Amino acid sequence: MYVNKVNTHILPIEFEYHAPKSLDETVELLEKYGEDAHVLAGGTDLLPHMKQRRVEPKHIVNIKGIPELACIKEIPEGIHIGALAKLRAIELSPLINEKLPLLSEAARSVGSIQIRNLGTIGGNICNASPSADMATPLMAVDAKVHVYSKSGEKNYPIVEFFHGRGEVRLEQGELVTGFTVPHLPEGAGSAFEKIGWTTLDIATVNVAAVVSLKDGKIDHCSIALGACSPAPIRGVLAEEILRGREPSAEAMDEAVELIATCVEPRERWRRAPPEYRQRTSKALARDAVTRAVEAARR
Ligand SMILES: Cc1cc2nc3c(=O)[nH]c(=O)nc-3n(C[C@H](O)[C@H](O)[C@H](O)COP(=O)(O)OP(=O)(O)OC[C@H]3O[C@@H](n4cnc5c(N)ncnc54)[C@H](O)[C@@H]3O)c2cc1C
Repeated sequence: MYVNKVNTHILPIEFEYHAPKSLDETVELLEKYGEDAHVLAGGTDLLPHMKQRRVEPKHIVNIKGIPELACIKEIPEGIHIGALAKLRAIELSPLINEKLPLLSEAARSVGSIQIRNLGTIGGNICNASPSADMATPLMAVDAKVHVYSKSGEKNYPIVEFFHGRGEVRLEQGELVTGFTVPHLPEGAGSAFEKIGWTTLDIATVNVAAVVSLKDGKIDHCSIALGACSPAPIRGVLAEEILRGREPSAEAMDEAVELIATCVEPRERWRRAPPEYRQRTSKALARDAVTRAVEAARR
């Protein structure tokens, strides 16, 4: 069978198109059509996959007619970001720039302005790519993922949402509605680091870090790493060894050695061999934590 590997305007499969106007109508359709239905948000992942016949949905459920899913707002628990919030909106949002600069920094690193004008945070996470640029910052800030279905709403810590390469914890009939980011520790600094083949390419490795200091010592530390394991991960051992210590070169050396022990890059992945990802994850983790410390000192 001919497989269209070229990015043309042609969608070589037939499907039925649905444009629900409410959450309930959306999950009704997702439940009814099960695995034959795919959600369409910005389409920057889904459409190329359809063109290449990597997925062949029989039903497309476009969620862009539910504007409340695009909200970015402050709530008592922290900040809520709707699944349909565009990456460009996150990059430019004054609220996100003030309270969660890590997320705007990461959003700014995605593809081109054209991609960020279409691509959504929900699509970035539900695509389940280990290199998704919004996954590591959301992990580093301990975000919760909100999921809606006919049975109601539930939420998970984002670390529990990723199962492995290409898999997220979404059952048939479920839709991600958004993310809640709890308040960061007082005075926390953050940084996002990414390396790719080109500035427009997806990450070969990305790292997000959040640090707060107390009396010159690291009080809170979170480090999340992408594209160096089958799913984005937290560098928990490195975080632990840094807590309660001054951010010295020695402490940093010990921490990045522990980073190297927790990443599991795969031999068959394109773009870079495992050794490269291992070394780069150490280097980017050092850079991210160093910059986060500097930001916390300001
Ligand atoms: C040229 C180019 C460059 C790119 N560069 C980058 C990059 O640098 N970094 C990066 O991380 N990504 C990159 N991407 C990938 C993509 O643009 C992003 O992942 C984007 O955020 C996807 O969002 P979307 O709204 O377009 O998702 P869509 O394509 O609409 O959806 C992606 C997947 O998620 C599902 N989905 C979407 N929303 C929901 C929801 N609310 N609930 C349940 N399922 C849902 C869809 O069914 C689909 O399976 C690039 C893509 C292209 C084409």
